[in-house]
Amino acid sequence: MARAIGIDLGTTYTVVATIQEGRPRTVPNAEGQHLTPSVVAFTSAGEPLVGQRARRQAAANPQGTVFSIKRRMGSDYVVKAIGREYTPQEVSGLILRKVKADAEERLGERITQAVITVPAYFNDRQRQATREAGTFAGLEVLRIVNEPTAAALAYGLEREDVHTVLVWDLGGGTFDVSILELGEGIFEVRAVSGDTWLGGDDFDQRVADYLAAEYEKVTGARFPADGGARVWLREVAERAKIELSSYPVTQVHLPPLGPWRWSQKGPIGGVGGWEKLPWGGDSLNHQRQLWASSRQVEIALTREHLERLTEDLLRRMAACTHQAIADSGLSPNEIDRVILVGGATRMPAVRRLAREVIGKEPYRYIDPDEVVAAGAAIQAGMLLGLVEKAVLLDVLPLSLGVETQGGLAARIIPRNSPLPASGARIFTTAADYQPSMDVHVLQGERELALDNISLGQFQLSGIPPAPRGVAKVEVAFEADVDGIVHVSATELLSESEMRVKVASTKHLDPREIGSLANEALHHAEEDREKRQRIEAIIEAEGLMAAGEMLLKELVRPPTGPQSQRTTQALAKLREAMAWGLPEEMRGQSRELRQLLAEAHKEERRPSKSVGSG
Ligand code: AMP
Repeated sequence: MARAIGIDLGTTYTVVATIQEGRPRTVPNAEGQHLTPSVVAFTSAGEPLVGQRARRQAAANPQGTVFSIKRRMGSDYVVKAIGREYTPQEVSGLILRKVKADAEERLGERITQAVITVPAYFNDRQRQATREAGTFAGLEVLRIVNEPTAAALAYGLEREDVHTVLVWDLGGGTFDVSILELGEGIFEVRAVSGDTWLGGDDFDQRVADYLAAEYEKVTGARFPADGGARVWLREVAERAKIELSSYPVTQVHLPPLGPWRWSQKGPIGGVGGWEKLPWGGDSLNHQRQLWASSRQVEIALTREHLERLTEDLLRRMAACTHQAIADSGLSPNEIDRVILVGGATRMPAVRRLAREVIGKEPYRYIDPDEVVAAGAAIQAGMLLGLVEKAVLLDVLPLSLGVETQGGLAARIIPRNSPLPASGARIFTTAADYQPSMDVHVLQGERELALDNISLGQFQLSGIPPAPRGVAKVEVAFEADVDGIVHVSATELLSESEMRVKVASTKHLDPREIGSLANEALHHAEEDREKRQRIEAIIEAEGLMAAGEMLLKELVRPPTGPQSQRTTQALAKLREAMAWGLPEEMRGQSRELRQLLAEAHKEERRPSKSVGSG
């Protein structure tokens, strides 16, 4: 029988595990390592290089080397290399193909199925892209599982006691917080939050920027802007960051970066010819630059300084955590255990922050690099019946909804609903005799449609002719166990129906996705005001139309007091709309609504109303 594996497809490293003798075990790659760098290189030699081989040649081939492709999943980003374009799915597919082949070699069996993990905070597009990457690699993706959930599975499989754990997962490119209740074989996710644009790489970038600035201060020469130099500096910065997890201070040596060229190990000073100089200038300046940049620069970086450089990144982590705790309905002291996952949680500042925010010492007895893949292998084992007595209940990371009149977002399934989740809402037409309705599917927490992620758009046609507000369209959502969304819209009278699996069609940069729920929190007040204004405008527009109709058709005589009051109320509402003040609009709308109600009452008593005019 072919075997199934669990894959932690990380931003920086990919790890594979499988179930052997009923327990998860990491499978080493062809180089004998448990961690395969998630790096792909395209060279003129033909076959792309993946993993350590790709990483080793990166400084000499910065244009052809792709790092951190996970951050681009679900976007329209393309990698252009050796005469063709690769989607992020294809690049990730190359990584998966290598780890699959290595595992087949190591285990001596064919591998056809896999469970792949993603950050809990990945949206629908990013999850679908991950599934496609698996397909490119020739794998049937049994399930997409959230990384922190996988970590909790590996942690909790053998524990019987019921308790609540909070998982902090800080990898190379993403940060996730999940709160789960474990016990008696049931793993129930209570809340997730996170930031798909926050990880160890950001800490490296801060250090790299600092080193380049120090280099410039000491030498008076610009640090080379060359791609190779920047790749190399990031690696130096990463090493310094990692060293500072164990020591309070580290020495960074930047070799002379004068006339230089790149070998596979980094820059070689003093050789390589003038044409490689990245800076220009007149010849005297040029000579000065050369002299300055021929000096070796030594920089002492302390842990304290690293923590100052990255203070804001830590604050973002705290904000996501507060939000997940609030969403779970628990208080920090109801959390029994804090589990840290992902290489970057080895930083002392991260551990300290966990203690400060949650008030607990993080749990130490798991390997943060391998626990996610182990959990993915367990999930694969559960699905294939190799691991017994475990049930996994995961949640939807971001709310699902549709755009409604005035560009507002209407929520249909709230975030953190247990998966699979479904929900439906009935909408109506905004115009008379509207023959079709556009359904714009959104994911996110913001009040305005344009501030959320657009998952796709489709049109429901065949709505029977009717005045506005009469036709009823039910929009129903189903999010499956992978968190992937299926949408249907049904016109209830004619029963015409459209059913779509939301596909990734429009451009979306994951940078824009960022921490949507945090953004929602941050913009809550501003968003509420915008929603109130739009709702007040929609209400006022409806009342204006009704008021004008009243003037034309109902009020008798046309110059009587009722007509004058209506004309005045309309003018005041128009003015309030021109100023755009929601309170004013609502006040004037109330007045006009009252006049309309009175007029309709009068109309129902025709003899009196005619007589009294
Ligand atoms: P992961 O995606 O879980 O493999 O995490 C990779 C990230 O962890 C990278 O940014 C690494 O630089 C970082 N990392 C690994 N080990 C350490 C360490 N000892 N201290 C700080 N960061 C680390």
